[in-house]
Amino acid sequence: MKSNSCPRISCPSCLEQIPVDARVCDHCASVQGLEALAGVDPSIRLKSRKLAILFSILLGGLGLHKFYLGQHLKGTLYLLFCWTLVPMVIGWLDAIKTIKMGPFGFAQRYNRGHAM
Ligand SMILES: [Zn+2]
Repeated sequence: MKSNSCPRISCPSCLEQIPVDARVCDHCASVQGLEALAGVDPSIRLKSRKLAILFSILLGGLGLHKFYLGQHLKGTLYLLFCWTLVPMVIGWLDAIKTIKMGPFGFAQRYNRGHAM
């Protein structure tokens, strides 16, 4: 039932019908979508530096960027003190820090152990 309601596309490799949001073709196991273009292993979710910066600026006061980067304890502290607006300012500083870090520094820090 579920697969019938899901929009389907044809796999560029084997032309079989696969769900539009499939990351790997069911038939020929080829990688689909953006992951295929980037040449990234679809089983690894790399953290995006741009997304982390965006979260820091927009919702840094709620610690969203900390949760995103897997720093749940820090994220909780941001959330607890969000009413003071101090975490919001720290969130902006975090954004500046992440921007200064550069893509390589970011990968070293948050995507360590994954092929880059
Ligand atoms: Zn296929």
